Amino acid sequence: MERLRTVLQKNGIITKSDCPLSRHGTFHIGGNADLAVFPETADQMIGAVRFCREFGVRAAIVGNGSNVLFADDGFRGAVIFTVRLRGLSDEPNGFRALCGTPLAAISRAAKNRALSGAEFACGIPASVGGAVSMNAGAHGDEMAEIVTETECYDAEHDRRMTLRGGEHRFGYRTSIFAGCPHWILLETRIRLRAGNREEIEEKTRANIARRRATQPLEFPSAGSAFKRPNGHFAAKLIEDCGLKGYRVGGAEVSRKHAGFIVNRGGATARDVLSVMDHVREVVFRETGVLLEPEIRVIR
Ligand SMILES: Cc1cc2nc3c(=O)[nH]c(=O)nc-3n(C[C@H](O)[C@H](O)[C@H](O)COP(=O)(O)OP(=O)(O)OC[C@H]3O[C@@H](n4cnc5c(N)ncnc54)[C@H](O)[C@@H]3O)c2cc1C
Repeated sequence: MERLRTVLQKNGIITKSDCPLSRHGTFHIGGNADLAVFPETADQMIGAVRFCREFGVRAAIVGNGSNVLFADDGFRGAVIFTVRLRGLSDEPNGFRALCGTPLAAISRAAKNRALSGAEFACGIPASVGGAVSMNAGAHGDEMAEIVTETECYDAEHDRRMTLRGGEHRFGYRTSIFAGCPHWILLETRIRLRAGNREEIEEKTRANIARRRATQPLEFPSAGSAFKRPNGHFAAKLIEDCGLKGYRVGGAEVSRKHAGFIVNRGGATARDVLSVMDHVREVVFRETGVLLEPEIRVIR
């Protein structure tokens, strides 16, 4: 690991040994990673992934850490964070965004240019890479509607490639990237449509107000813990089973929004996973619906 760190540093890539993962995820949970890596350009990102493979060190890619749960005993290997890989440039009716760019920045920039279509993204605490990978969405809209092209790096075949339109294979909170862990998103193009600035502002304000009114934003979480099952709403099923407020250690089914599991203070990953297991078991027993986790565990 030390040799890998030296090589990365020699190539100008920022690293941190024994890095507390709890500081890099919205859940504020997790042990330490042997190494954290912070590339600042697409070339550095590719270099970091190549060096990890060359040195036989396992690597995980993390954007803003808002949909992941880091394990209590951390990560043996390198966690490559995209937070410093930021950049947003204007294109006709849209943008080109590096993978670490906050999704909310696109929403803001779109509003300033009176472009409509990204209002849904204003309150999602995602990076562009994480949002494309998860096909993040809200208020009936999702990334699939605005993403036209993504440049990625296929670590297995050591090649860059470009995905266009349907090649992203977007589905509900998923994309082709879910099945291709060796593909790393570098940059994405987003196309919006000309709109009316006041209407865009109004829609954005309403989306943020709705989020504040319905989501437990006062506690750390990773958003919805479970995907929406066909024909149901996970939060409603959980609430109907009387599980609001169900708690193990510091992890609790939110009393405000039963779809969220929140860290009420000192929660461990084990606490969160115990709550998730119990919720799945009870909901399945009571309703016959098997909830599928939306949160991804990094261990
Ligand atoms: C308060 C709160 C509210 C939320 N509301 C919503 C909502 O309304 N709608 C919604 O869809 N989600 C919501 N989420 C969940 C989360 O914000 C989204 O899933 C988001 O898309 C995750 O982005 P991220 O950058 O944080 O990704 P991360 O959590 O860092 O990673 C998610 C996955 O993407 C992969 N990944 C990230 N970047 C790359 C890359 N460059 N290349 C390859 N793989 C990559 C990771 O390996 C991981 O598998 C919410 C979360 C919170 C905490």
